[in-house]
Amino acid sequence: MPKSVKDAVERGRTTVEDVLKVGRNTVGDVLKVGRNTVEDVLDVGRNTVGEVINVGRNTVEDVLEVGRKTVDDVLEVGRKTMNAAVLHGREDVRIEQVPVPEAGPGELVLSVGAALTCGTDLKVFRRGYHARMIVPPALFGHELAGTVVQAGEGVETFAAGDRVVALNSAPCGQCYFCERGQENLCDDLLFNNGAYAEFIRIPARIVAKNVLKVPDHVALEYAALTEPLACAVHGFEDSNPQPGDTVAVIGGGPLGLMILHVAALAGCEVIAVVKHDGQVEAARQLGATHVVQSTTIRKAIRDVRTLTSNNRGVDIAIEAVGIPEAWEEAVEMVRKGGTVNFFGGCAVGTRVTLDTNRIHYSDITLRATFHHTPEICRKALDLIASGRFQAGAFITGHAHLYELNRVFEKLMKRSTEIKTAIVP
Ligand SMILES: [Zn+2]
Ligand SMILES: [Zn+2]
Repeated sequence: MPKSVKDAVERGRTTVEDVLKVGRNTVGDVLKVGRNTVEDVLDVGRNTVGEVINVGRNTVEDVLEVGRKTVDDVLEVGRKTMNAAVLHGREDVRIEQVPVPEAGPGELVLSVGAALTCGTDLKVFRRGYHARMIVPPALFGHELAGTVVQAGEGVETFAAGDRVVALNSAPCGQCYFCERGQENLCDDLLFNNGAYAEFIRIPARIVAKNVLKVPDHVALEYAALTEPLACAVHGFEDSNPQPGDTVAVIGGGPLGLMILHVAALAGCEVIAVVKHDGQVEAARQLGATHVVQSTTIRKAIRDVRTLTSNNRGVDIAIEAVGIPEAWEEAVEMVRKGGTVNFFGGCAVGTRVTLDTNRIHYSDITLRATFHHTPEICRKALDLIASGRFQAGAFITGHAHLYELNRVFEKLMKRSTEIKTAIVP
């Protein structure tokens, strides 16, 4: 007990100073302990993390709300580093402490809400690089949505607190192709990576052309589907679909499933050609009228033709596997006057053999849609926001950033997962 008023004041002052001092240490300690804890939790088992994330998901909105303030505070207090996945080479991704990015003129820094795994990232993980998009050592991941924490000088369309989806690229707007509305073929397409991290910097050109505000009712992890969905919508629309057309979609991976869902939503009759058991149910759920589970290519072609009247063939065949054999298969499934879309990109240097007579005398249109345009990206987000697109069906798992390696290892073993939302 203080002996006098003067003592009490004296004591009070000491206490306040102590508290401040202890408090300061605590933040540092928590960060340090917190980091160890996540590693411990991972050691204890993936189930635990899954549960934690599941519980966490219910309060994601709360966390975001609270988090937004916290992030601002943290940034203000001067947090210098963050956790981020760094690709070093083949199957070598490490979670490292890297500098928190800062927004230069025209740029944004987002706090990542969710980053989604993607077939392209899996390919990059396996190969250790991507000729056009990523050269190691580099930040990694490209499908994301998050919250603006910092808007650079001159940015007027976005402010801290805005929930946004940032696309992985933006066209220049000035080259031969951009001027003709073929921005997906831009000579100077600017790519951005680094979604598997706590924060990501968005370059000025992407801010100007390909950052979209996410409506309040759309979860950030759903909004993060905008990029792959834009590719799917682009591929479908490029195939000249008419309502009521029969569309065969070859491939039951994330993009094959997305294309078939988009086609079904557009009123087409969809025949899904898939390989694995787990894909059959997913294809049905997403609107395929028929599912052909192919064992051999010859049988798949026969089965698909049998489903059309007089074995005529489908109006549109979209290949979403990315192997030459499937490209050739697609050409054999389509009717006279039909359209084939070679949507899946094959390995560099591969070639296909096509029956020239069949293509000419059956007047077959061949397309090979690549990537997306700013206009298509807006359409994709609108489709997600409409609620008609079953976004939830495409996100089959959640994992913490620290689990990224394990997630990719699992995806390499061809699991039934479609996309995993990585939450930093
Ligand atoms: Zn992707
Ligand atoms: Zn361009």
